Amino acid sequence: MGEIKFHVLTLFPEMIRQGLAPSIIGRAVEKGIISLNAVDIRDHTLERHRKVDDYSYGGGAGMLLQAQPVFDAHRAVTGGRALRTVYVTPQGTPFTQEMARELAGEKEIVFLCGHYEGVDERVLEEIVTDYVSIGDYVLTGGELAAMVMIDAVARLVPGVLGNELSWQEESFDNDLLEYPQYSRPEVWRGKKVPKVLLSGNHRQITAWRLEQSEARTSLRRPDLYERYLRRRQLAGELARDKRCHIHMMESLAEGRCEILYAGQGDVLLYDRKAGVCMGEAAREESCEILAGLVPQEAGTVVTSHPLIRDLLLKGGFQPSCEYIQVLYTRRVSLPVKREIRRLTMESLEEIRGFCQLDGLEDSIRAGALYGAFEAGRPVGAAGLHREGRFGMLFVEETSRRQGFGTALTACVVNLLLEKGRTPYGHVPAENQGAWALLEKLGFYRAGKSFWRLEKKLANRPGIW
Ligand code: SAM
Repeated sequence: MGEIKFHVLTLFPEMIRQGLAPSIIGRAVEKGIISLNAVDIRDHTLERHRKVDDYSYGGGAGMLLQAQPVFDAHRAVTGGRALRTVYVTPQGTPFTQEMARELAGEKEIVFLCGHYEGVDERVLEEIVTDYVSIGDYVLTGGELAAMVMIDAVARLVPGVLGNELSWQEESFDNDLLEYPQYSRPEVWRGKKVPKVLLSGNHRQITAWRLEQSEARTSLRRPDLYERYLRRRQLAGELARDKRCHIHMMESLAEGRCEILYAGQGDVLLYDRKAGVCMGEAAREESCEILAGLVPQEAGTVVTSHPLIRDLLLKGGFQPSCEYIQVLYTRRVSLPVKREIRRLTMESLEEIRGFCQLDGLEDSIRAGALYGAFEAGRPVGAAGLHREGRFGMLFVEETSRRQGFGTALTACVVNLLLEKGRTPYGHVPAENQGAWALLEKLGFYRAGKSFWRLEKKLANRPGIW
């Protein structure tokens, strides 16, 4: 079972197969997490000599890929289904990490590689959904461009990178370039690894890395740095009511969200990867504007403003219970008194017995879920949602009130602390049990409740 299928329409299928076979992407294909189908456009021509190109009407230097073989190759792959179809072209929108993330939410994508002078416009009009470029230069064919995009998208698919969640902290994620990194030996040609990296002090290491990232970005990419500063400023304004705004502050700090609106106390943020919109309004008259700005593809809206809630309920969102936001502001790790391990697919069936979670497999593959074990058997689970909050706490009926929930929560809190984050979660207001557990651990609660409004979407991003 492939988690995402890439089809590539090309004149050089071997180039795609061989180009992507080694290393991480090749292993992901072997494991069945992604699948790669390179389709030779020539196999679909009706021409006796397997010809697929012809002159361009009106004159011009080179040849063009003709409409018929491209159209039939596309049909052979889609069988008439409306699949996302990317034409890689220097005339497209420049490819970005953001776009890679968005494409990683698809189950099947077709890439069309041009050659010669390009492709007959009429077939492009028929089949293409996205025109995407890998940069302002012209290549001889689209194969390298398609491989670049497939590589960038595939590594975001849960399970492709062995090193769980490793894609969460890297260049561009936070409008910052990544910090410098060093490996052994400690001294090479007289150059020493910065001392702080050898200290074992995670907080100091995180602070040093942030400082380095900022300096590097302001020097090399002032455009990104400006966006980063804007986020930071808004996070500072939201910090006036940290308990109510921690979800937005964390999302901004981690570079998870775009700012769709910000001004005079009104804020609308969108975490595209998680499909979650977060909105608060200081003025009643802004509510309609903010509700209108919620993207169509947002599956969840988090708000404490009743007017925004009512407008969204009219717009197809489902009613929600009231939630309380809880946060842990101390910097001290919590004791973990049970055996907790990151879950692997080996435990999937046992976990299913007590954990009714949408996207359970994806969460495990992404390394986002941890299990409490007793005598080698998983009896509980908890983890990190895509939007950055902790949650997904499940303990099997017969193992409750034995400290497994506390240990699981403590474990995910510690993970977030190590990354320099402020742990927070959303607890249904009537869930007294959860609240008691969190209070004992030293959590604070926000002064007002809010709603998590959900909408049913066919292809919902963000679940795990
Ligand atoms: N005549 C075309 C133009 O000026 O837009 C360029 C054609 S190019 C020589 C041949 C093919 O290479 C294109 O159809 C496209 O698929 C691919 N290609 C070239 N440069 C690219 C880029 N920067 N990004 C993505 N694909 C590119």
